[in-house]
Amino acid sequence: MYMIAVAVNGFGTIGKRVADAVSMQDDMKIVGVVKTRPTFEARMAIACGYPLYANNAENMQVFRDAGLKVEGVLEDMIKKADIVIDCTPGKFGVLNKPVYESHKVKAIFQGGEKSGTADVSFNAQGNYSESIGKDYVRVVSCNTTGLCRTLSAVEKKFGVAKVRATLIRRGPDPGNSKKGPVNAIVPNPPTVPSHHGPDVNTIFPNMNIMTSAVIVPTTLMHLHTVIVELKDHATTEEIKELFKNTPRVILVKAGEGFTSTAEIMEYARDTGRKRSDLNEIAVWDESINVIGKELFYTQAVHQESDVVPENIDCIRAMMGTITDPKESIMKTDKALGLKKWW
Ligand code: NAD
Repeated sequence: MYMIAVAVNGFGTIGKRVADAVSMQDDMKIVGVVKTRPTFEARMAIACGYPLYANNAENMQVFRDAGLKVEGVLEDMIKKADIVIDCTPGKFGVLNKPVYESHKVKAIFQGGEKSGTADVSFNAQGNYSESIGKDYVRVVSCNTTGLCRTLSAVEKKFGVAKVRATLIRRGPDPGNSKKGPVNAIVPNPPTVPSHHGPDVNTIFPNMNIMTSAVIVPTTLMHLHTVIVELKDHATTEEIKELFKNTPRVILVKAGEGFTSTAEIMEYARDTGRKRSDLNEIAVWDESINVIGKELFYTQAVHQESDVVPENIDCIRAMMGTITDPKESIMKTDKALGLKKWW
C-alpha cells in the first residue's frame, strides 16, 4: 500500500500529537517535523524517529551547535512530502502558505488561522466530502470541533433550528507557563457572538448559532453548555442513545464519579493513552434533557487532542485515498484505540 508522505511544520502541542497519530496509521508516514529551537521537544522528535528540520538556515546551525542532528530546512522537508500539516502558532500558518504554494504541496492549517487561509474548513463528521482533493484545508479549532461533533449528530437525526451555547474556556494548556488568568474570569472574546459560532458556520453554513465565551483559571479542558432548538421531536433517551452511538463522543455520568473535568482527565490517564489524551468529546449523561423542543446538554473538550483524529481524516480526504467519511473515521479511530469501534 502506498504510504502518504506527511510532514509536520511546528512540533508543539498539536504538532507532536498529530505526528504520533500519523505514525499509528497504516496508510501514511512522517517524513519530517520542523522545530525552531533545540528544545526538549526537538530531542523528543529525534528519539521518536522523526527526521528533524529547522525552520530556516540560521536555526539549522543553532541545532547543530546544540548537538542535534538536523536534516535540513523547511523547504528540504517539503520536497519529501505529499502534504504538510501546519501546526505553527495561530496566525503563522498564513505566513507559511506562500512556501507551500511555491512547492505545490498540499497543506492543512489549524484553527488558529482565519478561515480564508484555506479553500475550506474541515470537520470529519460535518463536511468531510467538501475537502476531497482540495489543496488547502483548515481543521477547525478545538472548541469548534467539539460543537460540530455533537451538533452534526443532532442535525442529521432531528434537525437543528437554533443553537445557543456558552463556552467556558481553559486558560493556557498544561505545558504553558506564560499565560492564562490566575484569579479571574475573563469574557473572551468580550463580544457576542464569540468567534466560535461563525466558525461552526464554516462547517454548517445555514446553522442558526450564537455563542459567548469566558476564560477561567484551569488548564485541563473546555466546557460547553449547549441549548439546541430541535426541528423534529426527540426524547431525552433518544438523544442519549444518539450520543452513545456517535463516533468520538462519549457519555460520562456524574453519578459514576465524573463530577468535573478533573475526573474526566483522571479517566483519560487511566485509559493509558499517550499524554493522557482524550480525543473524544465527553457529554454528561445527566445534563441531557429535552424540554418541549429544547435540548440541553453540557460537554467537555480536551483541547490538546480532539482535533488530532480530524487531521488524520483530513489528510485522507485531501489526498482522495478514502472518500467515505465513515470509512476514514473508523480506520483512524481503530488505529488510535478509540474504544467505540472495538
Ligand atoms: P504551540 O505553541 O504549542 O506549538 C507551536 C509550535 O510551532 C512550537 O513548537 C513552536 O516552537 C513552533 N513554531 C513557532 N514558530 C514556528 C515557525 N515559524 N516555523 C515552524 N515552527 C514554529 O501551539 P499549538 O497549541 O500546538 O497550536 C498550533 C495551532 O493549533 C494553532 O493554530 C492553534 O490555534 C491550533 N490549536 C491549538 C489547540 C490547543 O489547545 N493547543 C487546539 C486546537 C487547535
